[in-house]
Amino acid sequence: MSLFKKINVDTEAAKSTEAAAEHVMCLIIGSGPAGYTAAIYAARANMKPVLYTGLQMGGQLTTTTEVENFPGYPDGVTGPEMMEDMKKQAERFGTDVRFGIATSVDFSGKIHKVTFDDGTVITADTIIIATGATARYLGIPAETKYAGMGVSACATCDGFFYKGKDVAVVGGGDTACEEASYLSCLCNKVYMIVRRNELRASKAMQHRVMNTKNIEILWECQVDDLFGTNGVEGAILIRHKGKPDEEKFNINIDGFFLAIGHTPNSGVFKDYIKTDETGYIITEAESTCTNVKGVFAAGDIMDHTYRQAITAAASGCKAAVDAERYLNELKNK
Ligand code: FAD
Ligand code: NAP
Repeated sequence: MSLFKKINVDTEAAKSTEAAAEHVMCLIIGSGPAGYTAAIYAARANMKPVLYTGLQMGGQLTTTTEVENFPGYPDGVTGPEMMEDMKKQAERFGTDVRFGIATSVDFSGKIHKVTFDDGTVITADTIIIATGATARYLGIPAETKYAGMGVSACATCDGFFYKGKDVAVVGGGDTACEEASYLSCLCNKVYMIVRRNELRASKAMQHRVMNTKNIEILWECQVDDLFGTNGVEGAILIRHKGKPDEEKFNINIDGFFLAIGHTPNSGVFKDYIKTDETGYIITEAESTCTNVKGVFAAGDIMDHTYRQAITAAASGCKAAVDAERYLNELKNK
């Protein structure tokens, strides 16, 4: 029996033992640039992809305003607009886009199984994991205490509420600079709380924040606590923590924005898929293949170096091509 026939037999077996399961050739998990690009390529290759969006339809870029570095948009584009364009392009070629969150997986057999939050079970010949990353918090109790009452991890979503007020952004990367820049147009004053004496952000972003009058960078500072009666009214900061000249001081703010990076959303796959110590999925050199045959990873979930929309989209393309080649190899065996 050829392996392709055997796969079909396995597929039939999977269908009969798993009456409620729907079988697909290609299942894509995630709706950021990686997921939608994988969908465009997989759909055009006649792999009839089904894409589950997760909670954040459109991914991280839906939390940003201007995207100026994605080729094809000479005048820039907003993140939500660009992601809507990608979704439409994926659907134009027949991608079945569905809302749902993958809650558990079984990658132990040849047929891969994924269960979603509404109880739907999908079995698939190939799976493309494009679940990206989620905003990190400092882990201080005040973040929970003031959640929705002054604490936010998305300036573009919540900045409007702090119009004319003073706010702080924690972090020194591109996101923090972008958030601070965005808030500086709405707010009276923006503090950037940076733990080192330099920014991690690109030179262009550094230049932008350093040349914005109402942004003040508080170097070598850490957040000790937040205070306020009915919401955030201020933050207690420590400069030069643990050094002889350690200094504790308060700033008065109404909004406290976290921009300290992201954690890869790989938890649901951890029993089967190899990751590094942070949780980024490890792929074989030059490809999107994971340690499980037929399971591929694309975008920020497997890229801790570049983490850009264009690199995520590029790896989405590679994952679809890798998945198609894998299917063809099975057919030809
Ligand atoms: P993401 O965009 O993170 O999408 C992940 C998707 O997976 C989401 O749809 C989510 O709902 C889904 N998901 C997660 N878990 C599950 C699950 N269990 N089940 C189902 N689905 C799931 N890059 C640029 O190139 N230019 C920029 O201007 C730029 N601006 C940025 C601004 C901000 C504020 C941020 C945070 C990032 C920015 N980036 C920018 C980086 C860029 O957004 C990311 O590199 C890119 O979005 C990564 O794409 P992705 O498809 O890998 O993942
Ligand atoms: P990042 O580059 O990892 O930067 C995180 C920042 O938060 C760093 O300054 C880090 O400090 C700080 N930080 C981390 N943990 C902290 C803690 N516990 N307390 C205080 N500070 C802490 O993350 P990012 O800025 O979200 O960017 C992620 C990726 O998206 C990057 O590749 C970036 O280039 C990309 N991006 C691009 C754009 C754009 O092109 N316009 C916009 C946004 C994001 P240290 O430096 O000391 O580690």
